[in-house]
Amino acid sequence: MTYDDTNIFARIIRGELPCHKVWEDASTLAFLDIMPMTRGHTLVLPKARATSIYDVSGDDLQATIAIVRRIAMAAKSAFAADGVTIQQFNEAASGQSVFHLHFHILPRWTDVP
Ligand code: AMP
Repeated sequence: MTYDDTNIFARIIRGELPCHKVWEDASTLAFLDIMPMTRGHTLVLPKARATSIYDVSGDDLQATIAIVRRIAMAAKSAFAADGVTIQQFNEAASGQSVFHLHFHILPRWTDVP
């Protein structure tokens, strides 16, 4: 799949659309999901043009996953979560709807389905 520079996350990265920013550095961005599945649902993405896990560079993936871990631990602490689910979808058939690589971070609590 060819990367589409008009996808919604590309526009957020360029600052053309707003987000509730959780983290930003030279290569990664994290912000709250607009339709949260749990309290604190956060998305972490590389700034580089990558549609999915298939076309991201090793360096960009490494930088992104380090921030995924950092945000997962911060979210667990901030939301007093009992656990953290991490999800990542590739292509529409898997459930991907925004075609810029991203990881979902979902704080979870015991007995909350
Ligand atoms: P996925 O199915 O992995 O492609 O998930 C895309 C996610 O992006 C969904 O959870 C959406 O709620 C979220 N999303 C879509 N548009 C925005 C936006 N403008 N700001 C924050 N999250 C968004």
